[in-house]
Amino acid sequence: MSTTTTLATRDQQVIWHPYTQMKTAALPIPIVKGEGALLYAEDGKTYVDAVASWWVNLHGHAHPYIAQKVAEQLQTLEHVIFAGFTHPAAITLAERLIQLLPQGQSRIFYSDNGSTAVEVALKMAIQYWQNKGIARRKIIAFRNSYHGDTFGAMAVSARSAFTAPFWSYLFEVCFIDVPIPGNEDQTLKQLEAYAHEGDVAAFIYEPLVLGTAGMVMYNPEVLDQLLAICQQHDILTIADEVMTGFGRTGRTFASDYLQLQPDMVTLSKGLTGGTMALGATSCNEKIYEAFLSDDKRKTLFHGHSYTGNPVACAAGLASLDLLLLEETKQQIDHIRQRHAAFSKKFRYQPKVLEVRQRGTILAVEFEAEGTSYFNKLGDTIYSFALEQGVILRPLGNIIYVIPPYCITDPQLDQVYLTLQGMQQLITGERY
Ligand code: PLP
Repeated sequence: MSTTTTLATRDQQVIWHPYTQMKTAALPIPIVKGEGALLYAEDGKTYVDAVASWWVNLHGHAHPYIAQKVAEQLQTLEHVIFAGFTHPAAITLAERLIQLLPQGQSRIFYSDNGSTAVEVALKMAIQYWQNKGIARRKIIAFRNSYHGDTFGAMAVSARSAFTAPFWSYLFEVCFIDVPIPGNEDQTLKQLEAYAHEGDVAAFIYEPLVLGTAGMVMYNPEVLDQLLAICQQHDILTIADEVMTGFGRTGRTFASDYLQLQPDMVTLSKGLTGGTMALGATSCNEKIYEAFLSDDKRKTLFHGHSYTGNPVACAAGLASLDLLLLEETKQQIDHIRQRHAAFSKKFRYQPKVLEVRQRGTILAVEFEAEGTSYFNKLGDTIYSFALEQGVILRPLGNIIYVIPPYCITDPQLDQVYLTLQGMQQLITGERY
């Protein structure tokens, strides 16, 4: 191989990237270093990671404390089979998660990512009813939710262009509308109708913010009402906190804004602060006890080679240490305030349909022709942001910011200026 071959062209020879039309995609940008909210490209350019690398990074890239804890764990125990064996990092992380999670969560089942955390929750819910000898099959989900790309997770996600090739393979789901303000009564009625049909096993939801749907936000009061209906009808509830967990909405979990708590919670992304692949599904004792039996068929037969990986658990512990620092709480609140100040002014700009915010998550919805993932606006905006040294991945005409908590004020200014530049681009005031 020639020494002048750049990383990008080498990549092009051997790699197939996710969510990427490899025929037409531009060459990927090789990133060779990360520090704080900045990513350093091979060509020397720096980028503000305004989307926290797919919403995972909490404390900044290559954080020295997490790196140290991961290195220590690697030198002590890198992996062990997690059936019949255990280890300190998995136990301590589970203990600490249970303390932080919404009340009632008492058991942690590890997996590798958000999708597998969802698969585990769905399997728990379905088998729970079978173990109890009660015929309940149906799963309820929000119509445009996203819970992952594995088959069970796809089934409970939107029937979108992304899942279209697989529709005929996905199990049937009872979809209800997202209860955005104005839609609340309709959603409550839809859930009530399904609940009355009687054989609903579980309701899975992204609490307060539907990420991939375009950072669609709804209120805790209506979610409490939905959960109350589920409780009345003995429907299990699964809060998918894969995106909203670990401070993203301003509180540790989005469920912390609610009066009623779920039976299960799925976690990933921020669980290791964006350093190692780890997923977790928590549940309450009611679920757990339904799997305790002398009859081995009631076992949850699920696991992955890397379940409970010690290095990933050590990263999770280190990330939690950082999350609980007073300084991090202040950073989260500071981002919340800065987003709020920006939204206040920006929401009245021409071509801005809506600005939404919850905690550290900000979304700007621009007016556009054909508001789908495939409209051209998203591509134009993505390239524009890169030129400005900011990584933003539009969801069609919706641009969102979900930064690492350590982002600095000048870096946030750069992100907001980029959003303003986009608005000028769309209105034709720029170029
Ligand atoms: N659940 C939610 C709410 C998500 O936002 C995502 C990913 O974006 C997932 C599940 C799937 O997580 P992963 O990409 O780690 O499989």
